[in-house]
This record gives sequence, C-alpha cells and structure tokens, in this order.
Amino acid sequence: MDKRPPIPSGMKRSIRQRCGFGCVVCGLPIYEYEHIDGWANTKQHEEDRIVLLCKRHHHEKTNGLLPGHLVEEFSESPLNLRSGESTPYSLWFSGERYEFDVGTNTFTGLLSSYGIVQPVRIDGTGLLSARLEDNHYMLTLHIADEGGREVLTIVDNELTFSALVYDVELVGHRLILRDGYRKILIDIEFQPPAGVKIRRGRFLRNGIELLVTENWSSILNSRTLLSGNSAENCWIGLAIGRDSKHIVSAYRSGDVTREGWDRRGAIRWARERAREMQDETIDEIAGLGPLE
Ligand SMILES: [Zn+2]
Repeated sequence: MDKRPPIPSGMKRSIRQRCGFGCVVCGLPIYEYEHIDGWANTKQHEEDRIVLLCKRHHHEKTNGLLPGHLVEEFSESPLNLRSGESTPYSLWFSGERYEFDVGTNTFTGLLSSYGIVQPVRIDGTGLLSARLEDNHYMLTLHIADEGGREVLTIVDNELTFSALVYDVELVGHRLILRDGYRKILIDIEFQPPAGVKIRRGRFLRNGIELLVTENWSSILNSRTLLSGNSAENCWIGLAIGRDSKHIVSAYRSGDVTREGWDRRGAIRWARERAREMQDETIDEIAGLGPLE
C-alpha cells in the first residue's frame, strides 16, 4: 500500500516555479510531480529532488528510455524557463456551438450566425473571442498584467503563458494564473467542445479595468456593474470603451475615463459590494490591494 503523504502546496508551487510551470523536458503544462530518486528509495519529499514531467516523459523515465541523468540536466535548465514561455498546448474546442460565462454574464449561440463572437471586447479589440474557420471553432484570449505585459494568450485554441509569472496551474480543466501569493489574475474553466467559463480575474487594457468575480462583474473605472447580461447569438457580449457605433452587443459602456479616476475609491467600493454580497472570492483577485 502506498502511504505517501501529499506534497505540501507551498512546496509544489516552488517546484512549479523552478520548472517553469511545465514538463522540464518538453514544457507541456500538463504534468506530474516526479521524484528524481524514486519515492520508494527515499520515502520523503525533497523539494529540489522533485521535477515536473509530462506523462510521456514520466513514462520514458520510469521505463528506462529516458536516462535519469538527462532528467537532471533538463531540470537544471527547464525548457519553459529557457524560452520564457510555455510550450503551446492545443485546446480541444470544436463544433459551432459556443457557451461563454464571464462572471454572471452568459453568451451562447452558434458561431455560424456571425462567424465570430466577442464576449469581452475593450476599445474595439476582442480580448475573449471565438470564430469559425473552415468549420473549426477557434478560441482567442488575451490576458495582460498591470504593466500591460501579455502573460497568457490563446490564439486559435493554442494556449501559451509566460513562464516568468508568479504561478500557473492547469489542474483538471481549470487554469489559474497568479500574479503573486493568493493574487489571481485569471481563473478559467475550459469546457470543450463549446464552453469557457471566466470565474474570476481582471481584463486590463488601455487603462480600463474589468473586474470579474463569481457573483458579479464591474468596470472599475466607472464603478459600473455588469451582472446578468445574457444574449443568444449576439456578435458582441460586453463592449467596453471606445468602439464603432455599428456593432451589435449585449452591453455597451461607451467611453470610459482612463486617467485621473479614483482607483483607491473604486477598490474600496468594490470591496464594500463584495462584503454586501458575502463574496469572499474577491480577496484573492490580483491588484485590489490588501483588505482594509
Ligand atoms: Zn514532457
């Protein structure tokens, strides 16, 4: 019987950071925590003797096809840290049907209606979108940090992220990217073939801050609540900021103040709203500052 205790979560995070959030050999963000010396031999979790390996490379190591000393070499210079970003992973979206949840806003329909849908669009750019190309469902997502650096990208179903962020975890079908300790920049559930659920996080672009929690959403700049916007077969879901007059959207904000707005006041307001709604998920969202 295997009475192995779980690896402590803080140790797991250090291992992920050291390995660049992917298999040290190929960079794939779907991996296992592998004891270089074999658990059976050491019977303990030694942080710097544990590496991330994908199923294939784990199998090769276990079966003697991948020599242990090579795994050690790779672990000293993991692929994702060498390139600065994760090896692309292809998500299995397909068909015509789309189902997007952005907090409590829901956008569903058939991609064939417009050929493209943009559930989140800021200043005319689709930050979350899907389109049909040769009958293939293509998902796109752009997530930037506060410095405007793009840290997670999905283009035509190919997911990549920066290997230099604080933490990224793809567990099951849920991806969480953190900007700091307990600071979530984006929390996504992939539900292929059709569904994407943005559970928590922030969409940042051109000075606009869209906050998404599990129970509500808001444009922080204007303290506008965006909850319960739902649409079937609508080209655009949330159209925020400057945009063409001719777009068809479930919600549109018009232009938003980007400079000189009271950000601290807006954050205090957001925290008060969260307290009223007994929404504790807001505490883990990046960029909202410490609890007052
Ligand atoms: Zn691998």
